[in-house]
Amino acid sequence: MFAPRLVIDLEKLFHNARTLTLALGKQGISVTGVTKATLGSPEIARVLLQAGVHDLGDSRTENLQRLRAAGVASTMTLIRSPMLSRVNETVRCADRSLNTEPALIAALDAAAQRAGRIHGIVLMVELGDLREGIMPAALPAIAAATRGRRHLRLHGIGTNLACRSGVVPDAGNMGALSALADAIDADSGERMALVSGGNSANLAWALGSADKGRVNNLRLGEAILLGCDPLDRQPIAALHTDAIELVAEVIESGRKPSRPVGRLGQGAFGTAAVRADSGMITQSILALGIQDTDPAGLVPPAGIRISGASSDHLLLESDDGPLAPGTQLAFRLDYSALLRAMSSPHVLQVSTFSSGALRRRSGRTA
Ligand SMILES: *Cc1c(COP(=O)(O)O)cnc(C)c1O
Repeated sequence: MFAPRLVIDLEKLFHNARTLTLALGKQGISVTGVTKATLGSPEIARVLLQAGVHDLGDSRTENLQRLRAAGVASTMTLIRSPMLSRVNETVRCADRSLNTEPALIAALDAAAQRAGRIHGIVLMVELGDLREGIMPAALPAIAAATRGRRHLRLHGIGTNLACRSGVVPDAGNMGALSALADAIDADSGERMALVSGGNSANLAWALGSADKGRVNNLRLGEAILLGCDPLDRQPIAALHTDAIELVAEVIESGRKPSRPVGRLGQGAFGTAAVRADSGMITQSILALGIQDTDPAGLVPPAGIRISGASSDHLLLESDDGPLAPGTQLAFRLDYSALLRAMSSPHVLQVSTFSSGALRRRSGRTA
């Protein structure tokens, strides 16, 4: 069968999404299913919606356009601040967007007017991770200005932690978000619909016993797709961590010296680590490389170690003798490996049910 391929078990994704939406629902928290790591796959988006996610979010207008073109019926949020050069696309493909810049908010108001629409605004607040977000002291004025725009609606506020600096969502930063929501509502005398506490890294906080305050939404991608907590990359109880696997094929295998022979300069991707001399080893090569995935984020099958990678080759050492050419191996992936594999035109995407029945192929065809 065509390799490399991503094997996507839709039943396991359904299970992950269902388990999380039910558990968070009991805490009064809705789930925005984040599809960016799937390039806005309509098939996966539909599974998430069937499993109970409230709406969809993606960081790219192209992905939202793909979902719309496929007829996926859901409220859709652009979860990265829009580009000034793309406000027209934004108001057409997204019902709302996450925002931090007054100039963008003004431009979205004008674009929404031209498109004859009302665009929802979620203002992102900086609470310590130092990626996107308005500094808290500046938030009330920007919220008031947003409310004053005729073609915009202030839908709520949100924050994003753990992505850049690894700041852990906790009672302190989540309490601060709730307090900001209360302060803005006190100014306006209205209650904002949405207080979005963050991403998959918020799950431990959200499912724990802490007071949720005003937080009533999380935007979840990684936890649904990979079943892992991004804070420590450990499996989340009751979720599948093998809903998506990457299968690649052996193209060479045999005994080789463990150390390079000759004078050493730089390799294609900089200076290779000096390898210890362990005599002759069993080395196999997979037709998979840095152009297809992030080799550092692959988890190989038992008894196999990843020993190197270049653009098109993944090098393996195996304990149990050579792997015959044509052998196909399945790897689990971390977020980085998944993102790149999903984005590669060289990697086929195959959807299955847990039963193993092939359902449908998408992406590059064999
Ligand atoms: C990617 C992203 C998410 C989803 O993050 P996961 O860790 O995949 O759950 C949520 N919010 C924003 C702003 C994002 O960029």
